[in-house]
Parts: sequence; C-alpha cells; structure tokens
Amino acid sequence: DDAVAAAVEPRNDRLLGGLLSPDFDDSSCLSRYRAGLYRRQSPHAVSPHLVASLRRYESIHRRCGPGTSAHERAVARLGSPPSNTSDADAECRYLVWTPLEGLGNRMLTLTSAFLYALLTDRVLLFHHPAGDGLRDLFCEPFPGSTWTLPEGDFPFSGMQGFNARTRESLGNALRRGEGADRDPPPPWMYVHLRHDYNRNGNDPRFFCDDGQDALRRVGWVVLLSDNYFVPGLFLVPRFERALSRVFPRRDAAFHHLGRYLLHPSNTVWGMVTRYHTSYMACGAAERVGIQVRSFYWARISTDELYGQIMSCAHGENILPRVPQQEPNFTAAGEQPAAAGRRKAVLVVSLHGAYSERIKDLYYEHGTASGESVSVFQPTHLDRQRSGEQLHNQKALAEMMLLSFSDVVVTSAASTFGYVGHGLAGLRPWVLMSPLEKKVPDPPCRLAATIEPCFHTPPNYDCRTRAKGDTGKMVRHIRHCEDFENGVQLV
Ligand code: GDP
Repeated sequence: DDAVAAAVEPRNDRLLGGLLSPDFDDSSCLSRYRAGLYRRQSPHAVSPHLVASLRRYESIHRRCGPGTSAHERAVARLGSPPSNTSDADAECRYLVWTPLEGLGNRMLTLTSAFLYALLTDRVLLFHHPAGDGLRDLFCEPFPGSTWTLPEGDFPFSGMQGFNARTRESLGNALRRGEGADRDPPPPWMYVHLRHDYNRNGNDPRFFCDDGQDALRRVGWVVLLSDNYFVPGLFLVPRFERALSRVFPRRDAAFHHLGRYLLHPSNTVWGMVTRYHTSYMACGAAERVGIQVRSFYWARISTDELYGQIMSCAHGENILPRVPQQEPNFTAAGEQPAAAGRRKAVLVVSLHGAYSERIKDLYYEHGTASGESVSVFQPTHLDRQRSGEQLHNQKALAEMMLLSFSDVVVTSAASTFGYVGHGLAGLRPWVLMSPLEKKVPDPPCRLAATIEPCFHTPPNYDCRTRAKGDTGKMVRHIRHCEDFENGVQLV
C-alpha cells in the first residue's frame, strides 16, 4: 500500500514522492530539493490525487500567472468590467493573499489559501504591501511563473485595511441578498476571514455551498485571514469528495501542502544549513526541538515555565534525568548504559532564559544514563517585529531547524510551533497553557494530530443557517487539545 511504499523509498527521494515538481533548476532555490534530506523520512504518503492536482494547478498558474496575456486581460477587466454576461466568465480567476500577523500565522493562511485555490482553479497571488518584511523569505513555488502580484495590478489600494464592513465582502453581499444569481458577477470580492469573521452569520458562509456559489464566477477574490482555515474547507459540502481523494489521511494536509509550498529562500537556507552544520549535525543520537512561546493571555513566570518544560521533558523521557547524587560510574568500574550517547537540543524562543537553564542543568549535573546533552539556541530576539525582513528570515530559519527534529516539544496555540512540527510530520508534545499562572497537570500532552489548529472556526451550520459547533459536525474535525475553541483535522 501507499504508506508502505513511501516508507521504503530511499531517503534521497528528492521529489518527496511526487509532491515536488522536477521542473526547477536547483540553484535558484537550494532548499526545495534539499530540505527533505535534513528531516526524518516522512511517514505520510502523498496520494496520486494530490500529485495530479498539484501538476494541474501548476499548468493553470503557468497559463494565467503574471506576465501572461490572460493575466493582462484579467487585470483590464478589473478596471472596466464587461456588461455582457458571457464576457464576464473569465478564462482565469485569481485569489489574492495578503499578509496578516506573525510569520507562523502568515504561513498557515497562505497554505490554506493555496488549498482553496487548488480546489477552485484559482491562481494564488502573493501581495507584498510595503514593509511587510517578507521579501527574500520564500522561493517561487510554481514552475515557469511567479506568484508575486505585480505592484499596481490590483487597483484597490489598502487591502490591509479591509474588514467586516468592507462593502465588497462576501458577508455583506450575502446579507444584501446578492448571491450566485448576480449577473454579470462583480469583478472582485473580498473574503473576510480575520479572527472576528464569525461574529455575524454571513462571512462564515464562505464555508457553505451558497457562499461558494456567490464567489464562483468572480474574477478576483481578495482574502484576509489570520487563521489556519484548512479544516473549514473540509466542511464545505462541495469540496468533500475532492478532499477525501487528495487527502485520504486528512491529518497530513498541512504537512504535505507546507512542504510543497513553503521553501525558504537561499538567504534563509544559508542560515539554516550553517547553523545545522555548526551545532546540530555532529554525531547526536537524537535531535530534540523545544519551542517556547508565552502569550500575554496566558501569563506564567520564567521559573514556572522552566519547571513545566523540564517536568514534561523528564516525565516523557524526552531528556535524561539528573540524579540528586552525582553518579560515580568510575568507582563502580562500569560504564552506564548510554555512555557516549549525545542528545542535541535545539531551543527556539524569543527569550534566552530557558536554554540557559537547561544548559546549566546538564553542566552542573551528570545524567543517570550517562548520556550527554548539548543545548543550542540560534537567537533570542526578545520581541516580535514581524515587519522586519531579517527578523522574519531568522524566524523562518528557526521553524525549519525545528522541523529537522526527531522529537518536538511546542507551546500550546503557537502557529510558529504548528509550522515546525507540521513540516516535520511529527505529533508534538504540547506544553499546555498555564492554569492561573501555574504549571498545568499534566505539563504536556502528545498531540492527537500533526495538524495545526483552526483557532476561530465558523461555528455555523450551513443546513440550518444557524449557529452550531464546528467541533461536533463531522467525525474528522474535533476541538483542539491546545486551544479548546479551535478545531483540527484528526
Ligand atoms: P505565534 O504568535 O506563536 O502564533 O507565531 P507567529 O509566528 O505568528 O508570531 C510570532 C512571531 O514572533 C514570529 O513570527 C517571530 O517573528 C517571533 N518569534 C516568536 N517566537 C520566536 C522564536 O522562537 N524565534 C524567533 N526567531 N522568532 C520568534
């Protein structure tokens, strides 16, 4: 079967089971064909339907992407929409993605937008507003074309500021009773999926067939989201069949799509490989990644959080324990079982305190097993600055390094962590959110799935047109363990 075939494929399967297109030259994007060599072999098979659908998407993007005459015509139609119905049915349709929030959020919404584009034969275009700090972060993902929205192409400025009140939003159009029967369709529409989108009943109808009907013939759709909304696409009745074929294992959706789409630029890849070679590569038996994030809404002191990390790491046998009494192996005349074995621990965090303390612990004390533990942290940038290019490049490098781990410990509800373990294809040990500023019990849990959590699901029932609990509608979508309002694919 597929899973077995994937498991026995050689590690140097450079196209990741057909996931990647062979049509790129290697040097323009070194990470594309090489990142796989640094990660554990993915246990998740790529379905032939996913491969077919990616190749199909690539051919559409090549035909319709910026620089083509079809694209020029589509841009012209934005300026002077045809009044005639049949002319309105454009040969190429587009989905414009624009960045919002931190890099982890952006990578998850970009991936979600890509899946939506794949399902609806739209061309995904990446909008770079001034100062987005995203230049020279990612490689071009589609062969023979670009995904960058040419500056000035989209005549409506200020997409960043679109919100629930924007007139052209899907929610507002549906509220006005302007659905699929609008003829000719509007030249563009806005899909509002920011965290407040489910406050009224119309924006969430994006995840219903009638919402999709209203968008179907619209040439340009602009999307603003800070949510991993892939699970929502699994709720749309009309996508059900395609999605079950493309992702027979639903819980690997981000894992595959992310490895297809998100390739760090050569600049970022340089950071990744230099760090890896200098610190992580040499002879470690196991690589442990620990991602530490603390949120303002889940305050906990440094002491408490350090305690939580270590009680998770020791309790789950992720890191060796240190006995109270210094072990005296030489006196006993024998070697401990794991002598000479080394664990390399990569800590990523905005703060340096956690890795310092873990390092101190293993410097001051020997381990019961005789294993040695080396601890590394590439940066501690102190605070988030998501508009700065170098800051984002470092964050991306660290997500990549995290994805090379054999075992990952991540922080609850962090999209940064989701990207790291999602690309790795691992279920992480999740440091649960604190309870009244104290370490929760248990301090961490092995996640049920490798999938990211969709933090604000629609909570809308398309059939009854009333509020409903997204986590209770279908078997394969459940509430997240790390963020109870959210839902995830299992
Ligand atoms: P989330 O807030 O944890 O969901 O993740 P985001 O990636 O969306 O936003 C957090 C941002 O803070 C990141 O994109 C980085 O800019 C910064 N950041 C947070 N944790 C780290 C870290 O461990 N390393 C680095 N380099 N940056 C971090």
